[in-house]
Amino acid sequence: MSNQSISQILKVIMYVGFCILIIGLAKLQIVDGELYSEYAKNNYVKKSRLEANRGEIFDRNGLPIAQNYPAIHLAIIPGFIKDVDSLKAFLSTCLNTTSEDVDKFLYDTRFRTYRENIFIDNLNQQQVAKFAEYVNYFPELRFSISNTRKYHIPNHFTGYIGRINQQEYARLKDKDYHYNSFLGKTGIEKEYESILKGIDGVKLNLVDAKGKDLDLFNSITQNRNNINIPPVNGMDLFLTIDLKLQKFIDDSFPPELRGAVVVMNYENGEVLAYVSRPEFDQNIFMSKIPNNVWESIKADTTKPFLDRVSKAVYPPGSVFKVITAGYGLENNIINRWTKLSYCDGGLQIGDKYVKCWNRYGHGRLNVIDALKVSCDVFFYDLSFRIDLDNFCYFVKDYMLSEKTGIDVPNEANGFFPTTKWYKNMYGPYTSIRGHMVNLSIGQGEMFMTPLQICALFAGIANEGVWNKPHLLKKAVKGDSVLTITDFIENLQVRLPNSLENISIIEEGLRKVITQRKGTAHSLYRPNRNIYGKTGSAEHKEGKETHAWFAGYDKDSKIAVTVFVQEGGGGGSVAAPIAGKIFDYYYKNIGSYNDEN
Ligand SMILES: [Zn+2]
Repeated sequence: MSNQSISQILKVIMYVGFCILIIGLAKLQIVDGELYSEYAKNNYVKKSRLEANRGEIFDRNGLPIAQNYPAIHLAIIPGFIKDVDSLKAFLSTCLNTTSEDVDKFLYDTRFRTYRENIFIDNLNQQQVAKFAEYVNYFPELRFSISNTRKYHIPNHFTGYIGRINQQEYARLKDKDYHYNSFLGKTGIEKEYESILKGIDGVKLNLVDAKGKDLDLFNSITQNRNNINIPPVNGMDLFLTIDLKLQKFIDDSFPPELRGAVVVMNYENGEVLAYVSRPEFDQNIFMSKIPNNVWESIKADTTKPFLDRVSKAVYPPGSVFKVITAGYGLENNIINRWTKLSYCDGGLQIGDKYVKCWNRYGHGRLNVIDALKVSCDVFFYDLSFRIDLDNFCYFVKDYMLSEKTGIDVPNEANGFFPTTKWYKNMYGPYTSIRGHMVNLSIGQGEMFMTPLQICALFAGIANEGVWNKPHLLKKAVKGDSVLTITDFIENLQVRLPNSLENISIIEEGLRKVITQRKGTAHSLYRPNRNIYGKTGSAEHKEGKETHAWFAGYDKDSKIAVTVFVQEGGGGGSVAAPIAGKIFDYYYKNIGSYNDEN
């Protein structure tokens, strides 16, 4: 073949090849192009969260207080709603939701209309069955399965979790929260949110238009972990609470009464029981609360949501006399032998006769006997020699006019007035001396939480070293352990009384129990070392007094405060409840001296 022929053939081949290339390119560009673009449009990488398990909450002995369990929730994808009226009608028959509930939900989710937004948590079995039947008619409805919380005992310290709200989401969206996240709303759940929560993981899937997982990443990498980031679960909390003791107190507290009981280990501030009555079941917040139930809770005049341990303040009444006594001793106004004015059932102060609680009178007493029988006249007399503003500092140093700093959010401040406060309130000519008379016996314009009172008596029991009350014993995850010192500094405060003066006060508190005329003699047990003080605090004309008992047991190393709102007499109402607690503890638990 000539060179010319070869060149001709090559030209033809090149020409044909070129044509094939052109046709192929054209097919790719024009015909298949649509297919590829559809493919690219319809498959996408779906990034989803692998939710971390929230840490669970246990008592000091490992008994469960709050645990996770899987639940079915109802989600709505608002963008898929075809007929909002029929959706509303359907939801109202199945779930008792109102049209306004749905409108609010649609408004709240207006920026994520193609996402699954949780509408109702924790469907019960009947609801799920009902939904399963009709769900095909409503492409906007989805079931979502994730953990929710179960609280084993009704109480005021654990708090509860809830879905994130708009404001919280705006604040936390960059901190590993998403629009369906749970977070601690109150109590321990809120206080320790950062360690309970854990860190969510990420899962990547290539899915088709219908959301079907194409399992592509899995087949490429052979190992899902190369693509997914596993979640890091939260830490479990072990509280200082003794759940059996907590339940015992719950059962011992008269069901018809309101009030609070606190039990603390006075050597280290661990709160062993934290009871506020009436209680409420936090589990109601784990699903939609029916409107009628919610209305009846809100209308309940006993205020079951109020945490009376640390978030409500009351006049302390005579349990406060230990502070007046302490001030008098520390400032050398009195010593252990000093006898003050004669109590004949009261005391003439200027043109007023101010009564003692005991109209038969107590005679002339020293501070120890005045504490024993709780004679008001002794403290009236002492009050004449007390400067209000110095006294106010003393009360503050006893940790009674500010928060204790317990690891439960939203603690109430105590309150104690100053001269300035009185003058602002009642004008420049108000009689500070008159107010001091009232304050000396724990009445008038002073308010404290039962928790503060318990911590005060714990401090006296602990030789004047006040321990910050707290509920966290330890947080645990694998080998990592955190304790209260990782969260709270300055756990101890030296109270402003010398050891010697503390022991004088203690003598009085001991006689309250041991002597026949002591106001809580009913708590006397031979061979046991119980100390205490009763109080019956007036608070409103015509109402029963608040009943108080605050004390401690030197064998068990616990301080106990019982507060019964409008309960009547401290000795007759509060002290017997404390007695049951001391006995239960002594018999069943003994001492927490040894680390457990
Ligand atoms: Zn008296």
